This record gives sequence, structure tokens and C-alpha cells, in this order.
Amino acid sequence: MENKKKSIWVFGDYRNYYQNRVTLQLISKAMDLAKAIDAEVCALVFGHEIDEWIMEYTAHGADRILAIDDPALKSYSTEQYLAIMEALVKERDPEIILIGATDFGREFAPRLAKRLQTGLSADCVGLEITPEGLLVQIAPSFGGNMLAEIVTEHHRPQMATVRPGTFKEIPHDNSRKAQVERLPLMKGLPAPRVRLIEYERCAEKEHSIENAQVIVCGGRGMGNKNNFAKLHELARILGGGVGATRPVVYAGWADHDALVGQAGKHIKPKILFSFGISGAIQHTAGLGEADFIVAINKNPQATMMKMADVAMVADAGDVLNSLIKELKKRIRE
Ligand SMILES: Cc1cc2nc3c(=O)[nH]c(=O)nc-3n(C[C@H](O)[C@H](O)[C@H](O)COP(=O)(O)OP(=O)(O)OC[C@H]3O[C@@H](n4cnc5c(N)ncnc54)[C@H](O)[C@@H]3O)c2cc1C
Repeated sequence: MENKKKSIWVFGDYRNYYQNRVTLQLISKAMDLAKAIDAEVCALVFGHEIDEWIMEYTAHGADRILAIDDPALKSYSTEQYLAIMEALVKERDPEIILIGATDFGREFAPRLAKRLQTGLSADCVGLEITPEGLLVQIAPSFGGNMLAEIVTEHHRPQMATVRPGTFKEIPHDNSRKAQVERLPLMKGLPAPRVRLIEYERCAEKEHSIENAQVIVCGGRGMGNKNNFAKLHELARILGGGVGATRPVVYAGWADHDALVGQAGKHIKPKILFSFGISGAIQHTAGLGEADFIVAINKNPQATMMKMADVAMVADAGDVLNSLIKELKKRIRE
């Protein structure tokens, strides 16, 4: 079936919780971009027994779903998925393809771009449309010290991978409708070179922060590992997660999983506590979507204090201890 309307494709990566959420975040961003170029948002879902994902992507804003549901696709194979995508792109000519910068996306997207002889911007932190209708792919470059704005002028599709947590998904809405095209598995696909023997889902980490509503973030101003560890107590009381800056991760006070910023996670909590953090651009690049920021710093001139909704000029450890004490008291009352 010929589809004349411009189309923005989002690759449906549903293999674990976070990759699942990044697809929803990309659908939401694609909806914004689609308005600017009068396009539809199309999610691609390949696999076996995938109706759950078709419904999920529909409820989160896709206008169209291209689905291939076949037992042969039960386990992911790079060669097969690439062959399917290449064939579909050549047949339908999408304007833009967005893929999550997950382990899967980082393997899949460059190979697809090479096959399609088009450009790809990896790990984008922003996407916009120019007045001429081109996709601006905003990505860290030169070791992360600059943000580059990249456009793919002459080749199509325009392709970008985007980190989980960069954009916000829209709320689930069961009343949304999408045009679902169920396509047959094409013939002559290459045989997979890797055979999946067993599949085991990783347990979600205790301190994962990408989707936390409350985040307590600590920096070098926490002074030492023991002081930093107390942030976990506050996070537990508030039902949130703990984030960290790079010096803290490098010093071994926190896991790499807690790193917030350009080289780490992009967070979008409703409330963020920032203890002893200066607010370097590489850190604040990950805070774009925090709704309300409380910063505690000895230096009132710190960038983090200027960004904050509430800025407390104080010792981070003192404020942390008082807050924990006060909250515990209120819980007991
Ligand atoms: C390529 C590249 C990528 C990077 N990626 C990241 C990234 O993803 N995430 C990241 O965080 N960083 C990243 N960085 C590092 C970044 O540039 C900063 O160095 C880092 O964010 C600073 O961390 P900080 O705020 O904890 O430390 P500092 O900049 O040293 O700030 C410490 C703050 O604590 C305050 N302070 C000190 N003592 C106290 C006290 N007792 N009470 C209250 N406040 C106190 C100080 O006034 C100061 O503002 C990257 C750097 C590069 C070059």
C-alpha cells in the first residue's frame, strides 16, 4: 500500500523496561516533530506475539504501526532485523528514523544507516526542525565539550539515536487509535548467525534513576564516601533514587549507574535535590527535564544554585543530616 504522507519512524525496542520506555519517549518527540513537517508517526514492531507492544505504542501516540509478527522473529537477529528494515525503508521512504541509543540501538542504527547510505547522529540530546523542514540533530561532540547541530541535507532518511530519558513520554491513553498494518515476513531473509540459547531478564537495579520521581543527587561537595552514602538514606525516606556527578563516580563513592549528565543518565524527576554540586554543563545537560530543583551549596555563585528553584547557602552534610532527622521525626508522629 502506498503511503504518500511524510512519515517519522520510531523503531520499537521493547526488550527490556528502559528500552521500552525510550521507544515511548521517542514517539512523544516524533509527535512534536511531525507537527512541524505535517508527517505521521509510525512505530515499527517486529517479533512474535507482539500485540502488547502494538497497543502500548498506539496508546502513547503512534498514528501508524508497521508490525511483523512471526515465530521466526521470536529472538532478535541483527541480520534479519536489518534486512527487514532496509526493505521497508526502500519501499516506503520515511523522512526520519529515530532509534533509542540503547545497546541494541547502538548496534543496529549504524549498520542500517550504512546500508541506506545516509547519515546518522548518535546519542542525540535534542531534536528540532528547521524552517526548511530539516531535522536538526543535536549531539555532544569534541569530547563532549560542545553541542553540535547536525543536519542531513542530501540523503534520506534522516537518522538519529537518542538516549533513554532525553524526552518525556506522553501519558498512556487507551482511547487513541492507530492504523495497524500487519505485514507478512518477507521471503529470502538471511539465516541468523547467532542462535539464542537462553534469555534471562536482568533485575532492575535498586538505584536506577531514569524514571524516578524524586532524585537526590550528590557531588564532590559531599566531602567523602561516608557522607555521600547518607544520600541513600534520604532517597529511601523520599522513595527516590540517588544520582551523582562524575568526580563522585570516579572517586568510587557511587556506581557508574548513578552518573547524571552528558556521559551518564538524563533524568526527569518531579523534584531534584542537588547536594554540593557546582553545575558544570556536562552535568546539567542531564537535568533538562527536572521540574523543581533544590540546591545546597556553600557557594551562592555556583551555577547549580542559579538554576535552582530553591537555593540554600549551607553545608551540604549539615542540611542532609537535618533533613533526614526532621523527616524521620515527622514519619514517627
Ligand atoms: C567529556 C566530559 C564529560 C563529562 N560528563 C559528565 C557527566 O556526565 N556528569 C557529570 O556530573 N560531570 C561530567 N563531567 C565533569 C564535569 O565537567 C564536572 O567536572 C563535574 O560535573 C563536577 O562535579 P561536582 O559538581 O561534583 O564537583 P565540583 O565542580 O568540584 O563542585 C563541587 C561543589 O561543591 C560545593 N561544595 C564544596 N564543599 C561543600 C560543602 N561542604 N557544602 C556544600 N557545598 C560544597 C562547591 O562550592 C562546588 O560548587 C564531564 C567532563 C568532561 C570533560
